[in-house]
This record gives sequence, C-alpha cells and structure tokens, in this order.
Amino acid sequence: RKGTVIITGASSGLGLATAKALAETGEWHVIMACRNFLKAEKAAKSVGITKENYSVMHLDLASLESVRQFADTFCRSGWPLDALVCNAAVYLPTAKEPTYTAEGFELSVGTNHLGHFLLARLLLDDLKQSDYPYKRLIIVGSITGNTNTLAGNVPPKANLGDLRGLAGGLNGIQSSAMIDGGDFDGAKAYKDSKVCNMLTMQEFHRRYHEETGITFASLYPGCIATTGLFREHIPLFRLLFPPFQKYITKGYVSEEEAGGRLAQVVSDPSLTKSGVYWSWNKNSESFENQLSKEASDAEKARKLWEVSEKLVGLA
Ligand code: NDP
Repeated sequence: RKGTVIITGASSGLGLATAKALAETGEWHVIMACRNFLKAEKAAKSVGITKENYSVMHLDLASLESVRQFADTFCRSGWPLDALVCNAAVYLPTAKEPTYTAEGFELSVGTNHLGHFLLARLLLDDLKQSDYPYKRLIIVGSITGNTNTLAGNVPPKANLGDLRGLAGGLNGIQSSAMIDGGDFDGAKAYKDSKVCNMLTMQEFHRRYHEETGITFASLYPGCIATTGLFREHIPLFRLLFPPFQKYITKGYVSEEEAGGRLAQVVSDPSLTKSGVYWSWNKNSESFENQLSKEASDAEKARKLWEVSEKLVGLA
C-alpha cells in the first residue's frame, strides 16, 4: 500500500516542496495540515500535485483546540499514519511586542514548539499502530538554534535558561513571553523554539524509540533563503539575503532541493536511525550532525517535556 504522511505547513516553502517530492513518487498520500485551506489547495495545484496523491486538512498550530480537533478528525478518517512531519513555523524577527496564540502563549514558541508537541503526542498511537515497513516522526530543526555553528552564533543567540518563562506560562502577564524569562525578542523566540524542536525529538527518541520502533529525527535542510519564512523581515533584508546565502556563505539551497532532502529523511529506507539530526554536505550527501550543548542537553529535554506537558494540558 501507499504510505500516508502528514506534513504541517505544507502550503508553502519547504513543506510544499516536500509534499510535492513525496507525492511524485506515487508511493505516498500526503495530508497537507494547513491553517489556510484555500491557500493549501491552490499551492498543491500550482506545483502540480495530482488529486489522488493529497488531501488538505485544517490545522492551526496556534490553537491547541484546533490541534486536538485535527487529531480527532484524522483518527476518525481511517487513514493509517506512517510518517508525521512537523514543519510549520512562524518567524517574527522585527516584532517589537509579543503576539500570542489562542491559549495565550507567545506566538513563535506557541506555534513552532507547543502546537507540534501536542500534535505529536496525540498522534503517537496512530504512528505506533502503523504496519508500514518504517514509521517516522520528523521535526524540522535549524542551524540558527545551534550555537555550535557560525550561523547559530549570530546574536541574539538561542538560550532557554532555566525555562522559568515557559514554566510561568509564556504569557507576558504573570511571566515573561520568553522561555528564559528575559525581555521579548522575536528573532530569539524563533531560535529558542527551534532548540525546543530539537530537544523534543531527542526526548521522544529516549522515551519511545525502543518500545515503538518509530524513528525520531530532526534535520537542517540548508538555508532556503527564498521561502515565506522571511516575509516579516525588512525589505532590504529580503532583497539581500538570498544572494548573500548563495555567494557568500554558500549555504543556500533551493526550495526544491531542500524538499528533496526532507523527503529523503521521510522515505529513504536507509535513514532509519533514530535520535539523529541530519545535515547535508556540499555534495548534497546526508550526514549525522552534532547538536550544540544546549540542544543536546538531556536534562533540559526532560524538563522541557514536563513543562510543555503541563502547558498543553497533557499532565
Ligand atoms: P514558510 O513560511 O514558507 O512556511 C511555513 C509554513 O508554516 C507555512 O505553510 C505556514 O502557513 C505554516 N504555518 C505558520 N503558522 C501556522 C499555524 N499557526 N498553523 C499551521 N501552519 C502554520 O517557511 P519555510 O518553508 O522556510 O519553513 C518551514 C520549516 O523550515 C520551518 O520549521 C523552519 O523553521 C524551517 N527552516 C527554514 C529554513 C529557511 O532557510 N527557510 C532554514 C532552516 C529551517 P501559511 O502558508 O498559511 O502561512
């Protein structure tokens, strides 16, 4: 049978390119989990994904209620679940003030981390029950949250501190809107959320890999300087960032190539290793990359898991 994969944020950028790459193989049915139904339908058509290879289902990660509804609807749909790709993200580098999810969490961490954390937890049983030859939970990470790299050292650097802001509810009222309890900084909030994504993947691995056989992995697909992720950035940045990445850092990858990389992590029969953070070298070969000290801190991962469970109502 065909595999079934859910991709969050498949209406643009990396998610859309991955949906296309997987659908084109004819071996996957792609569930595009998107907040804007019409945009997702149009996006699928615009890149030529054929009708029988995808479905769009509504998911707004900035609302835990919507995440729960999505998981319910999916379970009742009767689809098996063979792979889940947590890809959607918001990045608000120029925001002066925090904005919030439906439940009142700062928007970047609320969407990128807490929404995906709840989604992945709710769908874990479905993944577990899959009889596909391999089953995978992939969370898209980033170099920017990784302070052992050059890009990860551009200020403001990611730092979760002792999680006091998160533990306080991340709501900008009783607690700070930042995980470490500091002043709001939109660029840092995004990087922090990516550290959470990478820690979450490893904690899933420690807790569930042996018992379930699910492969948990993360990746840095390269700098896809052309996606909508940078839509909130100042115009000059948006103009100069793609050529800068192409010719100076040489970290640039096209959306198509990055989509191919993520599709590989989902479907390549040889990439079964769990607990791994994948990157690609200049010849586009995948390799297991090292995470920064913070992004591989097992004690922090456990604490993040427990605090997040409370915030999303699982504990
Ligand atoms: P895009 O902005 O193009 O795509 C982000 C997607 O997330 C969009 O489809 C967007 O939906 C969706 N999304 C945002 N908020 C929500 C929400 N509340 N509920 C559901 N979906 C939502 O960016 P990219 O393709 O670049 O980003 C994809 C992933 O790649 C992210 O995890 C990002 O961190 C990661 N990444 C990107 C890099 C890059 O250089 N671009 C580098 C490293 C990692 P909509 O279409 O409705 O806006």
